[in-house]
Amino acid sequence: MVQKYNQPLGGNEMPRFGGIASMMRLPQQSNTDGLDACFVGVPLDTGTSNRSGARYGPREIRAESCLLRPYNMATRAAPFDSLQVADIGDVAINTFNLQKTIPIIEQAYDDIVKNGCVPLTLGGDHTIVLPILRALKRKYGKIGVVHIDAHADINDHMFGEAIAHGTPFRRAIEEELVDPKRMVQIGLRGTGYAADDFDWPRSQGVRVVQAEACWYQSLVPLMAEIRESFGAGPVYISFDIDGLDPAFAPGTGTPEVGGLTIHQGLEIVRGCRGLDVIGGDLVEVSPPYDTSGNTALTGATLLYEMLCVLPGVDYRD
Ligand code: MN
Ligand code: MN
Repeated sequence: MVQKYNQPLGGNEMPRFGGIASMMRLPQQSNTDGLDACFVGVPLDTGTSNRSGARYGPREIRAESCLLRPYNMATRAAPFDSLQVADIGDVAINTFNLQKTIPIIEQAYDDIVKNGCVPLTLGGDHTIVLPILRALKRKYGKIGVVHIDAHADINDHMFGEAIAHGTPFRRAIEEELVDPKRMVQIGLRGTGYAADDFDWPRSQGVRVVQAEACWYQSLVPLMAEIRESFGAGPVYISFDIDGLDPAFAPGTGTPEVGGLTIHQGLEIVRGCRGLDVIGGDLVEVSPPYDTSGNTALTGATLLYEMLCVLPGVDYRD
């Protein structure tokens, strides 16, 4: 049978540990021609403030994604039955100059989204969300954001720099890339410099759901509220793997204890079904600190779950 859409290479065609490591063993292409969605890597970690290593994130997420199969047993999503998807490789960042890298990423995403392809990004540190949102704003207008993270990433400056992995959402709100009334930050916790670390986004209209408010609970009701309040209009999912507890995702640069469980992470992404998701990222996986590979596997799985909630996905129900 001739398949209409690209399919992940099956484990009965080539052993899962064999072949060239593309995301989910999908075909690779160099542009987004004909694609409804793409996986794309941004191997950047020069915006990090503590442990580095996220530059290796895209490679390791691809490597661990070899175990992912096409059909979602939990949600009955069959994304490869109705979407054309490929891995378009990595953005050629300038690893010596963060300032010069930002416009490189913007240009790459302008190209990716120009014909409506939905980018699902393998990070990379969280700095990358700023140039991605700039490109998406040009295409779609102001964007709603579901942001999962231990940190609000709204620092005004870090060591005097306006661009770093702890500042992107400050810039995104200042530049009016996002609509703060359609933005939620989930999983925030840990020690801060001052109460303002979490109160500033609240003062801008962002809904902040600290980790403690999530403990011991299903997040299905929260996501129902978010879908209701966001309504129609473009939405971006930005998932910092450190939003999960380091017991589940130790391979990251700025871990904080007391975080979300994997189950809650899945509930959040699955709860985005019905929103007009126009892109997503999974950032801050740092393979040198990921001795079991489980952080990269979790990251790969969450990216697959993002694919499963894109508009136009077929569900077997
Ligand atoms: Mn974080
Ligand atoms: Mn972050």
